[in-house]
Amino acid sequence: MPEVPSPSTTELRAQIERLERENQQLRQHAPPEAVAHLLEKVENAKREWEVTVDVLSELICLINSDGEIQRANRTVERWQLGQVMTIKGQNLLELLHPEPDASKAAFEAFWKKGWQRLAKGQSARGEYFNTALQRHLSIHLLPLTKENPLEPVAIVIKDVTEQRRAEEALASEREMLDVTLHSIGDGVITTDVDGRIALFNQIAEKLTGWKEYEALGRSLNEVFLIYDEDTREPCENPVQKTLKANTAISYPNHVILVSRDQKEYGILLSGSPLHNTKGEMMGVVITFQDVTEMRRLERSKFSFLNSISHELRTPLTSILGFSDLLLYNANPEDYQEYVNQIRKSAERQSNLVEALLTIVKLESDAEEYQLETVDAYPLLEEILVYGSEFIEIMLHERHPNRIPSFNYHYTLPEELRPIKIRVDENRIQKVIENLLSNAVKYSSIENISIHVEVRLQDGYLEIHIQDQGRGIPPEEMEHIFKPFYQVRERRYDVSDGIGCGLTMVNRHVRAHGGHIRVESTVGEGSHFTIILPVKSES
Ligand code: ADP
Repeated sequence: MPEVPSPSTTELRAQIERLERENQQLRQHAPPEAVAHLLEKVENAKREWEVTVDVLSELICLINSDGEIQRANRTVERWQLGQVMTIKGQNLLELLHPEPDASKAAFEAFWKKGWQRLAKGQSARGEYFNTALQRHLSIHLLPLTKENPLEPVAIVIKDVTEQRRAEEALASEREMLDVTLHSIGDGVITTDVDGRIALFNQIAEKLTGWKEYEALGRSLNEVFLIYDEDTREPCENPVQKTLKANTAISYPNHVILVSRDQKEYGILLSGSPLHNTKGEMMGVVITFQDVTEMRRLERSKFSFLNSISHELRTPLTSILGFSDLLLYNANPEDYQEYVNQIRKSAERQSNLVEALLTIVKLESDAEEYQLETVDAYPLLEEILVYGSEFIEIMLHERHPNRIPSFNYHYTLPEELRPIKIRVDENRIQKVIENLLSNAVKYSSIENISIHVEVRLQDGYLEIHIQDQGRGIPPEEMEHIFKPFYQVRERRYDVSDGIGCGLTMVNRHVRAHGGHIRVESTVGEGSHFTIILPVKSES
């Protein structure tokens, strides 16, 4: 805030004016000794005023209506603008701004407006940055007399640079803190000791579903709903827990945060007390990290180990069983059958190991493709005709005692005859068989109904594989192409795969320059579409 001359200065000035008025009267009527005495008093008062005004750090000038300096205090020397004795008559505007620039223009604009206020007997205040002095200046224009407010005018200019710098530093520190808190990957909430929210960053907004402006001032209990993942019991409020402990705390159990729209996030949660400089508790800072994906991976690691052990054990059990029969069963007519069973189981295990190796290769991008340009129609016809047999073999494996009935048909339009595609034939066959096998696996035994349709669409070849199975929940859709991901609870009576089929399908299709689309409704079925580029004639 710009400052005005101190009361003593004002008083002194009033005193001088009064004395000068008395002086006028006395000059006319009083005896010479009285005049001399009075003049001395006036001189003393003037000196006193000058001394007082000189020690003030503000630049104080008296100015006439042309903007020329009549008197100035010693600050003109401190600011190296000139000498007190020689400054009289100089134009203040030119003195403060030797060069025409934006800051001079700003001063002029203020001056013009200020002058209008002075004309009405009012004072004016303003602030700007003076580029010549490299200082922030606050200006205060004051009319000195009511009768003639424009002559002389007092101008008080205060250097407020340090004040502004401190304010700027504080503001930029605040901004930095704000940006930091809003850009870090963890959720951060601070509260006062009563648990009222004082700060709420973007991640907190994302995970709780509350906007910062809605959350501020609310109780943490209302916004931050946390439960024990296993027991589903509410967790102790982190503010109370931290205040009680009076030290940093964390939650050992798995905690879930339930957002405003009922989404659940696995979080790692900790709280720390906030103390002021006197060591008094001011509130609590709560930080939390979204570990939903990490926990999902942990779970899928266990589920993978579970699946793979099961997948490896099933054929081994059968190999061991039939080997025992061969060893101890003396009936030679059965030998052929036992050896066949052993071979089948060994083949199944070899396929599994093959699939694992493929995934490893795909993950390290080491898989090689034998791409050739071929006619689409005969290749797809061969694969789709075999589809029926493929499903039958699969069902036989899963239900050796009674193969369930199934409904399989495909559509292959004649317009595909001239179409060529660039593919690795074996890989394309694997892709289609994998999708057929999933369509069977995830359909109920009472309703295995699979329809394949090949279409030409916008210059691409589309292979649609639809089933009427159990469908995929929407929240699982983004995960099903990840390696070792399985939506279902495992069934131990049949071989169900290890959660890598769709990973392989996706990688193969992409290696052909294509992509894959899925639509699915739980309870109604799934629709996978492979989209492959068509080879142009040239
Ligand atoms: P898996 O070896 O488990 O079949 P996949 O990678 O082929 O592995 O599939 C991943 C998961 O996607 C499956 O566990 C299953 O839950 C789901 N899924 C795949 N295809 C279908 C389908 N046609 N219908 C329903 N769920 C499916």
